[in-house]
Formats: sequence, structure tokens, C-alpha cells
Amino acid sequence: MKIVDIRATTIAMPLEAPLRHAGGAHWGRFIRTIVEVVTDDGIVGLGELGGGGESAEASVRGLLPYLKGHDPLQLEQLRWKIMNPTASLYNNRLQVHAAIEMACLDAAGKSLGIRACDLLGGALRETVPFASYLFYRLPNEKTGKGGETTPDEIVAHAKALTAVHGFKSHKLKGGVFHPDHDVEVMHALAEAFPKDGLRLDPNAAWSVEQAIRVGKAIEPLNNDYFEDPTWGLEGMRRVRQFVRIPTATNTVVVNFEQLAQSIRHDLVDVVLLDTTFWGGLRQAHKAGTVLETFQYGASVHSSGELGIQLASMLHLGAALPNLSFAADAHYHHLTDDIIVGGPMKYVDGAIALPTGPGLGVELDRDKLAQYAAYFKEVGGYTYDRDPSRPEWYATVPEYRWADPSVR
Ligand code: MG
Repeated sequence: MKIVDIRATTIAMPLEAPLRHAGGAHWGRFIRTIVEVVTDDGIVGLGELGGGGESAEASVRGLLPYLKGHDPLQLEQLRWKIMNPTASLYNNRLQVHAAIEMACLDAAGKSLGIRACDLLGGALRETVPFASYLFYRLPNEKTGKGGETTPDEIVAHAKALTAVHGFKSHKLKGGVFHPDHDVEVMHALAEAFPKDGLRLDPNAAWSVEQAIRVGKAIEPLNNDYFEDPTWGLEGMRRVRQFVRIPTATNTVVVNFEQLAQSIRHDLVDVVLLDTTFWGGLRQAHKAGTVLETFQYGASVHSSGELGIQLASMLHLGAALPNLSFAADAHYHHLTDDIIVGGPMKYVDGAIALPTGPGLGVELDRDKLAQYAAYFKEVGGYTYDRDPSRPEWYATVPEYRWADPSVR
């Protein structure tokens, strides 16, 4: 089996409503690049990465001269061909590698009649639980959805999502409003869901001292962990000295060098593993086994996936021995998907690991064409801007929260 072609298609997928976060917003759609690796025996492996447009597509297709004739099963060779760390100083291909590796795992699995997780050692579970992933949303006038800001509105949103999907953990994307507002929302969620796990993630918007104050205010709740309350490994170390909640990150432990530092100096309790940020499904799984060795927590991070990357997250979650938290997914905020059969379903807050070979999902070519056309119509958006406050830009820590008059 040899690679003969690589295809890349940018799509835009509408969200139910725009999602706000501490550094900006998702404006009402996700932009993704769908990658197809075609082999000489006609197998098409699927991959996905965040962002898109002509330059993203060119960076994927531009690797064809490296990979023409490459055997998709030779995954370690693939990593060195694309992601040599010294060359990466000049050509950061981490996420492109992740998407191509995803597609190679898919193609290899399809060729061998085994699942992607079998190439990681096999599945320990057939379903992966997910958290509700709650955002302060801007209103979507077309759908009538969104507009949640107050504690009551967020609780109502969480109850509506839980009634449909059965979530048993709830994660608030905080840091948009004053930290005290997030504390109020967390207490309201705890009251509404007394048995469920909670997590608060302000995308590192707070100073160390603000993070400590918030952490102490939510310490009595049933917290899974306190995610990226402040920026940097040193900031996380300081918060951890004061707050009796396990800390978590998906921002400052995203490679093996940082992982080594975090473990050596005992800086963060739980690492959220991302199948693209870490450079691929295999790298994320490898990091999970390092965390297992040192008895730190592992969870699965979401970077705004469609069904192809979601499948990679399910294979990671199924293969990780030490997955003791519900995974994250933005998936339930999407209005559709580009895989055959439509969006995967949550049952009791969990999604089943696909049973087919490779990643176990197939591309719906009509949907791909539909949402590629939609991208051409609406284009991208700037993740680090919020359309509801066009003059604002984020600082870390957020400077507004240092002003006692701002609430
Ligand atoms: Mg996070």
C-alpha cells in the first residue's frame, strides 16, 4: 500500500449559536480542513484539522512530494519525514502531520480490516463519556438559539443539553465576564446538578491571584478539575499551591518537553490530550501512557471537531488506560456533519466507538460539497475577536478584571 495522492478541502460548518471564550469567539461556524490520503489500492484515509483556506490546503497538498510512495503503516517514518523537531523551527507542520497521520491510521485500518485504536493497542471501552461543554453564547437570530449569560440562563441551557444528550459532567467556558460571574454560574450549576462533575475553564484569563480567589470560591463543589485558570506552567504551579482542586491544562502542556517539565516539577495534575495539538493520535496516546506511568490524570481535549476528528478522539479515549474523566467535545454545538449517516449520537452522555475499520467513519460527499460551498460563501472568521465587542482584544491576564469597578 502506497500513498498516491493527498486532497484537502476547506468547509464551514454552522453552529447553533456563536460561542464566546476569554480570547474572542467562534462566530457561528467552525472552519475545518478535511484531508484525504489516497492509496494505490484505492483506499481513501480521512483526516481533519482546524482552520482552512487556500494556504492551509496548500500546506497539506504541498507534502505530496514527501509522501508519494509512502506506506501509510509506516507511521514513525511519517512523523520524522514531516515533523522533525529541528526542521520544525522553520516549518511548523504539527497539525498538518496530525491530520495526515489520522488519515494514514484510517487507511491502514481499512486495508487491514482493523480499527484505528487497534494500532494503539486496542480498545479498553466501547463508549467514551463527554462533558456538556457550556459556553456563554451570542444570540443567533436565524435559529433563535443562544444568548445565555446569567446563571439561570446557563443552567437552563445545561438542562436542555442534558435532557437530550444525558451529560453527567458539565464544563463552563468562563473568562468572558468578571470572575465573580463565573463563580455564581458554577454554584448555580452545582445546585442544579448535585451529583455531576464540574469543571471551569477560563482559557487562562486570570492572574494567579484572581485564579486562587476563584479556586477557593468553588473548592466545595464537586469539581473534576480547574482548567487553565491562569497562564503558564509557573502560574499553574502557583495556583496549585493554594487551591485544593486538581488543576488541568490544554494550553501549557502540549508537547513532550513541556510534559517532562510538568511532571518533573509537579506543575499540573491533569493533561487534556488533543489529537491535533499534540501532532496526532499516536502522540496524544503516547503522552497518555507517560501520564499513566507517573500517575497524573489524562483527559481528551476538543479543538472544535467534526466527525472525523471526533472519531480520532473516540479511538484515543477507547485506548487510553487512564481516562478517568469525561472527554470534551464542541460536537453538540454543530448543526450537521460531513460523515455518512449524519452526526454521531450521544447516549447517556457518551458516544460509541465506531465499529468499522480505520476511524470507522465515511465521508458524505454531498455534505462535503455543500459545506465547502458554504465556506466559499461566508469565509473564515477571526478566533481572537468577538463580534459583540469589536474594539476589544484580549490580554493575559485580562486587564479589565484588575479594575474593581468592572463587574
Ligand atoms: Mg481548555
